[in-house]
Amino acid sequence: MNIFLYVKQRVSLLDVVMQHTKLKRAGSYFKGQCPFHQERTGSFTVSPDKGIFHCFGCQINGDVIAFVEKIEQCSALQAARLLAERYSIDVSQFNHVAPSSEDHGKKERYFITCTLFVQWCHEQLLKNSSVLAYLHKRGFSDEIIKQFALGYFPGGLASVQRLVRYCAKQQVLVEDLLNANILRRGNNVLYSAFEERLLFPITDVVGRYCAFGGRVLALKDKRPKYYNSRESNYFHKGSLLFGFNQAKKEIQQSEKVFLVEGYTDCLAMVQHGYKNTVATLGTACTKDHLALLARHATKLYVLYDADAAGHKAIMRLVNLCWQVDLELYVISLPDGDDPATYLLQHSSLDALIKQAKDIFSFVVQSVSADVANQSLRTKLSAIRTLLQQVAKINDPLKRELIADTAAQALDLSRSAILQELERCVVFDGKITASQTGNQPVLQEKTTKVSQFEINNIDKSLFSAIIHNVSYIKNSHVVTLVEYLPSFLKDTLLVLKSIVDQGDEVTFDVFYAKLTDEQQSYVNKTLLEVTDIIDEKMLDCLLLRFQKKRWKIIVNTLKKQIEQAKASGEHDVVLALLERFSELRRTSIVYKGVS
Ligand SMILES: [Zn+2]
Repeated sequence: MNIFLYVKQRVSLLDVVMQHTKLKRAGSYFKGQCPFHQERTGSFTVSPDKGIFHCFGCQINGDVIAFVEKIEQCSALQAARLLAERYSIDVSQFNHVAPSSEDHGKKERYFITCTLFVQWCHEQLLKNSSVLAYLHKRGFSDEIIKQFALGYFPGGLASVQRLVRYCAKQQVLVEDLLNANILRRGNNVLYSAFEERLLFPITDVVGRYCAFGGRVLALKDKRPKYYNSRESNYFHKGSLLFGFNQAKKEIQQSEKVFLVEGYTDCLAMVQHGYKNTVATLGTACTKDHLALLARHATKLYVLYDADAAGHKAIMRLVNLCWQVDLELYVISLPDGDDPATYLLQHSSLDALIKQAKDIFSFVVQSVSADVANQSLRTKLSAIRTLLQQVAKINDPLKRELIADTAAQALDLSRSAILQELERCVVFDGKITASQTGNQPVLQEKTTKVSQFEINNIDKSLFSAIIHNVSYIKNSHVVTLVEYLPSFLKDTLLVLKSIVDQGDEVTFDVFYAKLTDEQQSYVNKTLLEVTDIIDEKMLDCLLLRFQKKRWKIIVNTLKKQIEQAKASGEHDVVLALLERFSELRRTSIVYKGVS
């Protein structure tokens, strides 16, 4: 028998895979999201009877050794040895098989070094009554201190030397401590960035210690409050979550996960019974974080600090949650509280969990609060951004519900919002479809340009002026507005009347003077056009408009000139002639460039 067969017979593939993704029984096999490629539906299957896995999405398959090989990016032999160690299988009879490669040896040494460091720091903490007193004062029990193996690194060369001696007994050398970024060498003296810090050990998804977060304790300590291990081959902040390995079982069982911002928040949550809690490692939540959680849970509850930064972080999550299959809920804490301080006082979050808002109600509410006293234009632009997000929801009923809430909260017409939403949905569909093509960017551009050119120069000109009301002061603009269809022309002449009266031209003054019908058309226009139009683009629009209407413009002018001649108004004739030649000049320029 070889080592592979020996290990395979003693390890459950299901158990190994469940460390990385949640599986559900489906007949004689199990199904879940693939840990090797990102997907929203589960294409990954495991047959425990046959001891094999297969992904119908990325076509990866094999046995338990192949699974570990792939997930740990190691050789088959290394995978077998890793499994043997993790499941305490004695493989000494196979020791004649070639030893692990250099790189994997490095990897093993890294984890062993980290583990020793955790053990040593934990021992130091248990011996230090003032650090223990600090933790107790903050409400942390001895059980939680033990469960998370919290540690303390006393300061000074003597303690560094004690650590070095402790590790040396286990054949871990100074070199290993340096490689793991636990120690540093400066001026021939060894020191550590973790000295005089409370230590939060960080594990990877299968529970190996791979990094640390260190918090200063002394008030007079002026170093940054937190120091985290540097990124390495074995530690990526952007894809690891604090507490994940411990929370995994509970997350899979409840299909829910709580996401908090800090180590102490996570500890407080777990201590109060919310065992399915994880924390980001002093960085923003990434798509990788959410993808990891989506493989194990269906609902994500976010508990961020009730301050501007926390709020901002939640808004960033909105975009990400569409890319993974997770329902997002926001739990709002009272101002000034974080989960740890709140639990210290109330010892239960249940009341707040009941009031959790789904991310969209939360976003609609905060967007409306942000723009409550702003101009209509600001409101419309805020809601446009919002609707582009809402359009990504697959459930049409839910989309409509959110649009309703938005219309109410922002005091805008329901129909305009629904119309815009439908447009976003269609547009989003098109983009998604084109992304499967070879040149998505090019395709998107062509559609835009051709839409622009083929039709609606009138509409574009109208909306350009609506977006930049002061354009109406340009006499050329005023001339051409005369040739717009009467509804558009009448609306813009309201704008011109403001100029004629000598008042300052602002959008809000203009909007207030419009009829209901005009207002609703303006709303629609503002919602539809997302391009920013500058003076250059306006010039281009005017030229195109002029070219399209050239015959009508010329005939109208000729008629006006004849009339003025007949009634002997020489000044008017001269002004009209000048306008005529100006139009001709610009149209020649236009012909030149086209
Ligand atoms: Zn796959």
